[in-house]
Amino acid sequence: MIMEDIIIIGSGIIGSSIARELSKYKANILVLEKNNDVSCGTTKANSGIVHAGFDAKPNSKKAFFNVEGAKLYPNLSKELDFPFKQNGAFVLSFSKEGRKTLDELMERARLNNVKGCKILSGDEIRKMEPNVSSLVVEGLYAETSGIVSPYEMCIAMAENAASNGVRFEFNKEVINIHKENDLFIIKTLDGKKYETKVLVNAAGCHSDEINNMLSNHKYHIIARKGEYVLLDKEYSYISKKTLFQLPTKMGKGILVSPTCHGNIIVGPTALDVSNKDLTWTTPDGLNEVWKKALISVPSLPKGGIITQFSGLRAHEENEDFIVSFSEDVKGLFNLVGIESPGLASAPAIASYSAKEIANYLKLENNLNFNPIRKAIKHISHMTDDELKEAIKENKEYGHVICRCEVVSEAEIKEAIRRTPGAVDLDGVKRRVRAGMGRCQMGFCTPKIMEILKEELGLSMEDITKRGNKSFIVEGRIKD
Ligand SMILES: Cc1cc2nc3c(=O)[nH]c(=O)nc-3n(C[C@H](O)[C@H](O)[C@H](O)COP(=O)(O)OP(=O)(O)OC[C@H]3O[C@@H](n4cnc5c(N)ncnc54)[C@H](O)[C@@H]3O)c2cc1C
Repeated sequence: MIMEDIIIIGSGIIGSSIARELSKYKANILVLEKNNDVSCGTTKANSGIVHAGFDAKPNSKKAFFNVEGAKLYPNLSKELDFPFKQNGAFVLSFSKEGRKTLDELMERARLNNVKGCKILSGDEIRKMEPNVSSLVVEGLYAETSGIVSPYEMCIAMAENAASNGVRFEFNKEVINIHKENDLFIIKTLDGKKYETKVLVNAAGCHSDEINNMLSNHKYHIIARKGEYVLLDKEYSYISKKTLFQLPTKMGKGILVSPTCHGNIIVGPTALDVSNKDLTWTTPDGLNEVWKKALISVPSLPKGGIITQFSGLRAHEENEDFIVSFSEDVKGLFNLVGIESPGLASAPAIASYSAKEIANYLKLENNLNFNPIRKAIKHISHMTDDELKEAIKENKEYGHVICRCEVVSEAEIKEAIRRTPGAVDLDGVKRRVRAGMGRCQMGFCTPKIMEILKEELGLSMEDITKRGNKSFIVEGRIKD
């Protein structure tokens, strides 16, 4: 058993961003993740909005980390080469009574020090976004609001952390933790034991359970489900800006927004559920999403829907983020209740947490830290000349596997070969978009399975869509 300086539980955007920040210091760092890849929890299924920060309650941790986090995105997305765009957002009001809420949001923007917010009339909004409903009376415009590809950002963080020395172990569900002589002894479901000085609890919806194994100060996370539909890129003209409705007690309401790749995302609902892992969509949820989204954009085309999904918010009863060392368990650093705006806040949460942990362990700087990570080269972004050059270097760039998103064999192989690399169909999809298009893997599944089989030395029967028992084939018909 290696004695670690730091073990991080969870490789969502919070765990992976902290891992990357901590790799700026000299330390043995290990990430334990119960799934078979990074970004398999809430981080893969959310709206992907880098909120400007006008919504969060002033003086809360949510407000602080959101505003500071959003400022870090432009530079971070360049260093780590992940998709991010400052596209601007509206909060739409459909009645004169809505003005009170808009004014409250403007006041929060002022108190949270968010620049670039103003109230525009319905006509001014429609001049910028012609598909917005004629019933919109006015709205708040936030020019600094952005969009990000959350799973690509998480993968970029993890790859950069790994290239700077952080180790990741997957399929490691932490089931028991206790302390012995100031060290945490961690047991995983497969019977392995780990030892560490500092334990970082970034387990998302399960972060209360991790804390409650050790601390007398108990937390209680409620999983709040949000369901979505996604429209084909053909409908990217619908809106260039993110269109929110007025917020409610349960959250920011149903939005219609472009994604970084030109799809239109519509959702989410907000419903408290008892199971913290089940992300099924439901007819009721999806109907609610559609009905409410039509209020903002009446011309939304139902035939444009290519897929649906849902994510679970880690809602903590006390409403705010918990980002701190535990008061009664020395060495336990908690990240609990990181619901929205957790994605927007992640870079600032990571920077703050890493500094706290480095101070606690008195870590020295890692002078070899390299902040740069390059994304996989996509043939769909290349000019004809660049493509010819790429094919000259490696003919697999000329072999298109996913026709909807134009993804080559070379890209898929690189997605599998990187660290941490893809080990199933969804891992490939999140890294290079093979299967993200209109046919939703209808045509490319067998081809990607062949590549996974060859690269990972698996049999076809071993290959899964998303780990666990999500096998694609049972065996040969002739057998
Ligand atoms: C519907 C919805 C919409 C949202 N929209 C936005 C938005 O637009 N903008 C924004 O800023 N935020 C948004 N959020 C919030 C944002 O998605 C989250 O704050 C963020 O993804 C949380 O990341 P995380 O790393 O804490 O959690 P996760 O991504 O869930 O990662 C936690 C990881 O811990 C692992 N884990 C759990 N238990 C164990 C264990 N016992 N052992 C080992 N590993 C374990 C899990 O497998 C998981 O991979 C939204 C959330 C939802 C659900």
